[in-house]
Amino acid sequence: MDTCCSVPRPPKPAAPVPQSKAEAGRLDRLREMLPPPFTVHTSLVFNPITLEFDEDLSLRIDPATGLITKIIKNSKDIIKVEKGDIDLRGKIVLPGFVDAHTHIFLHSYDEADIAKQTRDESFVERILRATNHCVSALLAGYTTYRDLGSEGMEDADANFRDAINRGIIVGPRLFVATKVLASVAGVMTHTENKIGGTRIPDTSEACDGEVEIRKAVRRRLGMGCDVVKFFADYRKRVMRFPPATPHPYLSSVMFPPDIPNPDVVLYTQEEVNVLCEEAKNADCPVAAHCATNRAVQMAAKAGVNTLEHCYWCDLETLAIVKENNCIMVPTLTIAENLFGTNFQAILKKTYNAWRMGINQACGGDTGTFNHGQNIREAELFIEAGIPLTHTLRSLTFNGWLACGGHSCGRKFGWIGEGCAADIVALNRDPREDLTALRDISFVMKDGRVYKKEGKKTF
Ligand SMILES: [Zn+2]
Repeated sequence: MDTCCSVPRPPKPAAPVPQSKAEAGRLDRLREMLPPPFTVHTSLVFNPITLEFDEDLSLRIDPATGLITKIIKNSKDIIKVEKGDIDLRGKIVLPGFVDAHTHIFLHSYDEADIAKQTRDESFVERILRATNHCVSALLAGYTTYRDLGSEGMEDADANFRDAINRGIIVGPRLFVATKVLASVAGVMTHTENKIGGTRIPDTSEACDGEVEIRKAVRRRLGMGCDVVKFFADYRKRVMRFPPATPHPYLSSVMFPPDIPNPDVVLYTQEEVNVLCEEAKNADCPVAAHCATNRAVQMAAKAGVNTLEHCYWCDLETLAIVKENNCIMVPTLTIAENLFGTNFQAILKKTYNAWRMGINQACGGDTGTFNHGQNIREAELFIEAGIPLTHTLRSLTFNGWLACGGHSCGRKFGWIGEGCAADIVALNRDPREDLTALRDISFVMKDGRVYKKEGKKTF
């Protein structure tokens, strides 16, 4: 069964830039303030690259860089736990989890739909909610979030990322898209009342044609995005049969057609090519929202890094995805909430993609359901028929690939020398009981402990 996926190897990074004198000085000053390097002792560590569980490793960690500096293979009896060390023997240790498709500024659609959230909640409320969301995510074992669109909050996601990176608030390491890109009127919360300028904040920046698209990508880069996200398709013609609630869609008219809100492509192939070319010039990964065969094929051929959703892909389209080496993020958790009986077809497609050796990353479209419940996505990978070890790779290493791999500037998603010290420990073995993934005992991100023995430490 496992033979259909070859063992991935982290792609080679660009040649390292020598450390500057100023940077060395900064690290020396940090070292004076921080505890000295320490060791984390383990008895069982999951390796998402080999898909094996490795026994009896001790991980040397430098708090100043937040990196794992050395991995020592121990024999059980000779481990000496020194002062400051952390003993995770008896627990199941995994690399910190990556949620590859999130929205920190959204909370569950069961509580308020997107129009209500973007129109009625204040900027301050949305920032404070996001602060709570990030704590919930971290305590659930998520040390990295790829946050794909600020949902009416302009470029605040970039500022929010920086607040975490400066240590002002705690949360996962964020990779943000700022505003998403779409063609004119392609992605917006449509409303029927335009009187008095009634409107809902834009969630997307409209750009059409080569010049506007290049400018929009350059603007996103200038605003500090880590990833450019665009919509390759969307339910643009929704106002023919206006919705009662925009997302999730519920029709407001009495006799709607079978599919009142079909997804249509928003761009031409040339436009998508230009968008990808411009982002690649800055070594910035591209994420494409795409649900239909046409849009997925277009985005894959243009060379996007990740394809989000891909709900209705057939086998021919999956072959094109594989050929172009794109990563799929099937966002099963939101699909489970949206599609009822059609959801089974989406699970089947996700399984087929795995069988064909397509790399998939776990990302639930978290935010449309509550942060902290992220692990549902991994559970649905397993429900689709993907083996546990491959699912755990999608939850960790493939998440790093989705964030851009080496272009992230930091290695995470596996436990190796030179990787960020992002470590999660479970009380029970998920090979025996899947609910173990919901029982997080320990969380470390960048060498800082945020949860110990099931209790938060900050
Ligand atoms: Zn999303």
